[in-house]
Amino acid sequence: MTKSTTNQKLSPATRLAQALHFRDTETGAVVPPIQPAATYARNENYEVEKPYGYRRDGNQTTAHAEAIIADLEDASETMLFASGMSAANAVIEHLPSGAHVVVPKVMYHGVLNQFKMYHARNRLEVSYYSASNLDEMAAVVRKGETQLVWVESPNNPDWEVTDISAAAKIAHDAGAKLVTDCTGTPPCVTRALDLGADISFHSATKYLNGHSDITAGVLSVREVGQYWDDIWTVRNLQGTVLHSFDAWLLIRGMRTLFLRVEKATKNALAIANHFEGHPKLTAVLYPGLPSHKGHAIAKRQTGGQFGGMMSILVKNGEQAAIDVARFCQVFYPATSLGGVESLIEHRKTVSGDGFPVDPTLLRLSIGIEDADDLIRDLEQALARI
Ligand code: PLP
Repeated sequence: MTKSTTNQKLSPATRLAQALHFRDTETGAVVPPIQPAATYARNENYEVEKPYGYRRDGNQTTAHAEAIIADLEDASETMLFASGMSAANAVIEHLPSGAHVVVPKVMYHGVLNQFKMYHARNRLEVSYYSASNLDEMAAVVRKGETQLVWVESPNNPDWEVTDISAAAKIAHDAGAKLVTDCTGTPPCVTRALDLGADISFHSATKYLNGHSDITAGVLSVREVGQYWDDIWTVRNLQGTVLHSFDAWLLIRGMRTLFLRVEKATKNALAIANHFEGHPKLTAVLYPGLPSHKGHAIAKRQTGGQFGGMMSILVKNGEQAAIDVARFCQVFYPATSLGGVESLIEHRKTVSGDGFPVDPTLLRLSIGIEDADDLIRDLEQALARI
């Protein structure tokens, strides 16, 4: 089994649609097989046939998915994990005890809770900045001391946009690494490594896979070194490598990434434009709207493909917001994002007490359905409150 090559210069969309022009050399199959082995036999010299001896080392199917994402990110190396949370945890775990890190006050609550937990146990020292506010970021970064700056852009669930190149400069001037979580606008549109990030993180559960049927997390880098080996060791010791069956689903899902993000963006723009200024809403938060304060940066960083993530703030309080989610008939009232199906969720219910979120906020993950069906569904739900 190999991947064929061509002399032609192909666009990322072509390479992705063909899973790097995969072709099974034995059979001609254009779809890769799944390699599920948990263990590998030693050879006649009693040596392990590298690079795999055991499941936790990785496997062929996962390595194929990693090669596809590395190609998309123009990364030298990519590592896949069993979830976004385990990928984020490997980054945190590889840091020495007492390391100083800088993170947004509002970001995906699960990753934020990991930082808070490590902080509470004195394992890390954590300073916070308001997402997208570079002055605040610069004020808490400590030259020669901070080891890692975390940026989530756009941040979940407020969709504030951070200037990644400017954040990279702040981090690098202090001697820190910049990690970006651009899960909301995947690497077909936001090329974080090009913008200066040292580690590009994504929850591959979301747009990369796109079908809400696996969890996966991914880290991509241009420069490798001891730190990258240490992250690999965390994955190996914790056994959090992405399973081969899930890697296979990810490969299948990624083939349509460009198409899905394009359609989700188109739908989201139509929905945001329709509901901006709606009498039952106090705000529509979507970086694709020219009125959004991060619009110009988002446009530059995504090439105008703003993705399908937005939030709406509902008038008349928390219960009215919950009711809108309950009354939807096309949107699923479910958590997660980046799938082909549209989801709506009352974020405060999901992120729990202690997380700073407006109680009237509903997070929408816009899928690839007909935009008019989605608009009508939200209109009828809003009409009932
Ligand atoms: N980062 C962001 C922005 C997310 O939205 C999520 C999950 O919703 C994660 C990270 C965590 O990823 P996972 O659910 O794959 O563990």
